[in-house]
Amino acid sequence: MKLYEHEAVELFRRFGIPVPQSVVASSPEEAKRAVEQLGGAGVLKSQVLVGGRGKAGGIRVVSSTEEAETVAKELLSMTIRGERVRRLLVAERVNIARELYLSFTIDRSNWGHVMLASSMGGVDIEEIAARHPDKVLRVAIDPLVGVRDYHLRKVAAFLEIPNELMNDVVVTVRGLYSLYSELGCELAEINPLALTQDNRLLALDAKVIIDDNLARVKGLSLERERDLEEAAREMGFSYVELDGNIGVICNGAGLTMATMDLVKHYGGRPANFLDIGGGADARRVESAVNLLLSKGSVKVVFVNVLGGITRCDEVANGLVKSLRGSRRNVKLVVRLVGTREEEGQRILRENGYEYYRSMEEAARRVVELAKEA
Ligand code: GDP
Ligand code: MN
Repeated sequence: MKLYEHEAVELFRRFGIPVPQSVVASSPEEAKRAVEQLGGAGVLKSQVLVGGRGKAGGIRVVSSTEEAETVAKELLSMTIRGERVRRLLVAERVNIARELYLSFTIDRSNWGHVMLASSMGGVDIEEIAARHPDKVLRVAIDPLVGVRDYHLRKVAAFLEIPNELMNDVVVTVRGLYSLYSELGCELAEINPLALTQDNRLLALDAKVIIDDNLARVKGLSLERERDLEEAAREMGFSYVELDGNIGVICNGAGLTMATMDLVKHYGGRPANFLDIGGGADARRVESAVNLLLSKGSVKVVFVNVLGGITRCDEVANGLVKSLRGSRRNVKLVVRLVGTREEEGQRILRENGYEYYRSMEEAARRVVELAKEA
C-alpha cells in the first residue's frame, strides 16, 4: 500500500530524516493560513497516490498568502490522472542547489535489499537508470547487518555531498533504512533529496510503500480515503467490502454467491469478495489479489474458480506472482477446476500452496485457517 506524501513525511520526521516544515490543508483558507505560518511563501503539493504530480501541474510555488488561496482553490478542484485532489501539503519553500535521489527497496533479482542513490534526482529512477546507468549507485544491503559506515561514505562520495554535511547524510540514510526495515516496506524513496543553497540536505518528497498490515505502523493514523470499491470498479472487477478476515475471489456472480454462503455455513467471515469475471489472465488475477490484500484485515485468501474461458494455469500463475511479491503473511486456499486444471494444479503444488477440487473441503479448510489466524 502506497502512503500519501504527507503520511510518509510524518514517518520521515519520526525517523529523524530532515524535511522542510509543512502542514496539511484541505481548503483554500487552510492553505492560506499555512502559508502565513510559513512566513508568506510556500510550495503547495497535491496529495494523490498517482506519480508524476509535478509534471501534471499538481505542485505550485506561491509567494504570498493571497496567491496561496487562489492556487489552493485551483489545485483542490483538480483531478490528476483520474485521482481527485482532496488535500494539499503546504511546505516551506527551499532554494535547491542540486536534486539527488535515494531509496531502499527490495531487490527481486536476488531476494535481498538494495540501496539506490543518484546525483540526478527529480526524475524517475527508471528513467535515470535507462539513460545514465553510470549515475546510479546500487549497494546490496544485508538485512542481518544493515547500513554500515562505509556504505555512508560511499554514498556521500558518489553524490559529491560536501564533507560538512556528513552528519545529515548519516541521519538521512540511516533514518530511511530504519523506516524501510522496521515498517516492512517495499520501497522508501526520497526524490528529490535536495542539497539546498543554504547548505542543508532535505527530503523534498517522500514515497513509502508498505506491504503489510498497518498494525506495524504503530500510532500512525492513516486515513484510507482511497475507496477500494471504486478502485475495483475502475479495474472492471465487482468488489464488495465486508468486515471479516477471509478474502474471496471467484469468477461469475453465481459461484461467488455460492462460495460466500458456504464460507458462512462453516462459520467463517468474509472480509471482502471480488468477482474476476470470465477470461481473466495471470495479470488480472494478480491485480485482483493485490486489491484484495490491500485490506489489512485479510488473513486467508480463498480462490474458487471454474475454468471455462478462464484458464486454470493463468489463474495459478497470477496467484503465485502476487503472493510471492507480497510480504503479507496470508494463507491461500485454492479450488480450481476446468480448463488446463492439471497445469494449474502443478503450478500451485510446486509453489507450496493448498489445492482442492472439492468446494466444500476447500471452504472448510479456509474457515479452519481463518480461525487460527
Ligand atoms: P513528484 O512530481 O510527485 O515527484 O513531486 P515532488 O515532490 O518530487 O516535486 C517535483 C519537483 O518540484 C521537484 O523535483 C522539485 O524540482 C520541485 N520542488 C518540490 N518542492 C520544492 C521546493 O520546496 N522548492 C523548489 N524550488 N522546488 C520544489
Ligand atoms: Mn518526487
